[in-house]
Parts: sequence; structure tokens; C-alpha cells
Amino acid sequence: MKLILATKNQGKLAEMQELLADLPFELVSLAVYPELPEIEETGESFAENAAIKAETVMRLTGELVLADDSGLEVDALGGCPGVYSARFAGPGRGDKANNQKLLLDLLGVAKKDRTARFRTVVAIAAPDRKTDFAVGSVEGLIAGEEQGDGGFGYDPLFYLPAADKTFAQMTPQEKNQISHRAEALAKAKEILRAIAADILK
Ligand code: IMP
Repeated sequence: MKLILATKNQGKLAEMQELLADLPFELVSLAVYPELPEIEETGESFAENAAIKAETVMRLTGELVLADDSGLEVDALGGCPGVYSARFAGPGRGDKANNQKLLLDLLGVAKKDRTARFRTVVAIAAPDRKTDFAVGSVEGLIAGEEQGDGGFGYDPLFYLPAADKTFAQMTPQEKNQISHRAEALAKAKEILRAIAADILK
């Protein structure tokens, strides 16, 4: 049984593969389907975008598909960048530019007011089945400068007071114990186990 992980983000893909490794599915990345078109994230919420990605790939391949949409919500910026996290500094500008823009936008904001959270919504789409969702979030603070080389995206700026580290200063295993994506995927695994049991009936 195949499960397509509908992401082209290598950082996300690695985390998903580690977190879903013990499921009874062959995990397949989108790289195996180079003919599929680029999917535009036109939704206004993480759930809408996750559903668009999962359902589009499911319709085009006929396979079971898992997609996540995730992002960073910064309280001092009214919840931005949110669904625009990947293109905060402009389309195609990348993680470095996004992090620089975030630091600039928060210039002069005191540490106690730099509260933020990562959120993930996972959508699971299968032929002839209603799309299922699972959510996860993790609270932290936006650091005053980038720290650490691990992870991806905003990880060097996402500081967890309880660990006294940014996500980028953690090992992949440490991040995968507490991250928004780990929480959502733990819930998604229960849904996927039920789907596997259904298929094998
Ligand atoms: P998506 O591919 O539309 O879900 O965009 C997610 C964007 O949010 C990524 O490009 C990152 O900028 C950011 N993001 C999501 N999850 C994480 C994470 O675990 N660490 C750092 N940045 C993340």
C-alpha cells in the first residue's frame, strides 16, 4: 500500500518520513511524480491549503495522500506570516530572506512580546472517502538573531524557553518529539492505521 507525502519541501519530507516510518505503507514522495503540476495554495487557512494539496494529488494519482500546510503565527504581527509563511519576503525569496524580514518587522519588540506558534494541519485524502484532518501546534518566542544550523524555514529564530534552544539547535529527534508537525502526524497516524485496517478488510 502506497502513501504519497505531498510535499516538495525536503525539510518537511525528512520529518514526515521519520515520524511515519512505522506505518504499514510504502512512503512515496512527490519526486516520484514529476509529471504532476505545481499546486497553487489559494486557500485562506492551513486546513484549506492542506485539503487542496492532498485532494488534488489524490485525484491525479488515485492513491492515498497526506499533505500538510503549516506556518508561523507571530502575535506582535497580528498572526502573520500565517498561511504566507513560505513567501513572507516575496515569492521564491527563500528562508534566509523570510527570517531577515521577520527580524526587521520585530525590531524594537521586547522579548516578552515576541510570542509565536507554529501550526500544522495535516489532510489525508483517499479515493471514495471524506478528507480527514489532524492538527498540531507549538508555542515559542522569536529570538533576536538566528541561532543553530539544523531544521529549515524559521527554525533558527523559533526559541523554546523550556529547552533554552531554538528548533535549529535541536537534533531532528529532539524537534520531532515536540514539534507542531509531530503532534499533527501522531494524530494522523491513528487515522492512517484505521484506513489501513479498512483496506485490508
Ligand atoms: P507550506 O509549505 O505552505 O506549508 O509552508 C510552510 C512554511 O512555513 C515553510 O516554508 C516554512 O517557512 C514555515 N514552516 C513550517 N513548518 C516549519 C518548521 O517546522 N520549521 C520552520 N519553518 C516552518
